[in-house]
Amino acid sequence: MHFHVITLFPDMIESAMNTSIIGRAVGNGIVGLDTVNLKEFSQNSYGSVDDYTYGGGAGMLMQCEPVWQAYHAALERLSSPDKPPRVVYTTPQGSVFDEKIAADLATADDVIFLCGHYEGIDERVLEEIVTDNLSIGDYVLTGGELPSLVMMDAVSRLVPGVLNNKESAETESFNNGLLEYPQYTRPSEWNGKKVPPILLSGDHKKIDKWRMKESIKRTRERRSDLYRDWLAERGIY
Ligand code: SAM
Repeated sequence: MHFHVITLFPDMIESAMNTSIIGRAVGNGIVGLDTVNLKEFSQNSYGSVDDYTYGGGAGMLMQCEPVWQAYHAALERLSSPDKPPRVVYTTPQGSVFDEKIAADLATADDVIFLCGHYEGIDERVLEEIVTDNLSIGDYVLTGGELPSLVMMDAVSRLVPGVLNNKESAETESFNNGLLEYPQYTRPSEWNGKKVPPILLSGDHKKIDKWRMKESIKRTRERRSDLYRDWLAERGIY
């Protein structure tokens, strides 16, 4: 898995991606990371990559040519040059990113993220290069760096070898269409609150049953949309 991020702020991407679990994966080469600095492809002496929008209105728009050239710079560094990369434009107008999309992206050899700013990016270059328009939710951020980082983190966790046993992705929320059950660690009593006795029983069959029941209950209470889908998948309406 190799990420390429086209951005005005490469430091922001590199600093986050070189931290913690993902930083370890980047450090040992399981996840590759290249940033492409859009400013290097500015078409003027000020180093800017934006201009006024045709038709008027507030705000500036990122121009086609710097994005186009930055995209070609990213193509030069693909880990699998014979396979077309996925090209993600992070945009509030995209499909909302979820665990299924993360799992799908995790199968790609190269994913290029395009981070917008200002009013976004000239539509013509987006039509030429983007394969996936993805949003991280129905709100508007100032730029595409945080959405790219969110998506790269979620995708990286699913790349074999990124998580060790202690950090396993197998029992996480969404993995089986449900939210994860409540969890507890030592001490067994804190502030007068006791850990559910079943978890101290050592009976793993009973513990699994309890966890499944709690997962279903939590999903029903907190995410009725997921709960309905989970029931429908089992033919229960
Ligand atoms: N004018 C755009 C619109 O109304 O759809 C919003 C532009 S936003 C201020 C600037 C950039 O931030 C976008 O080009 C995109 O890359 C990023 N962005 C903002 N909100 C986002 C979200 N919810 N998901 C993904 N990217 C987002």
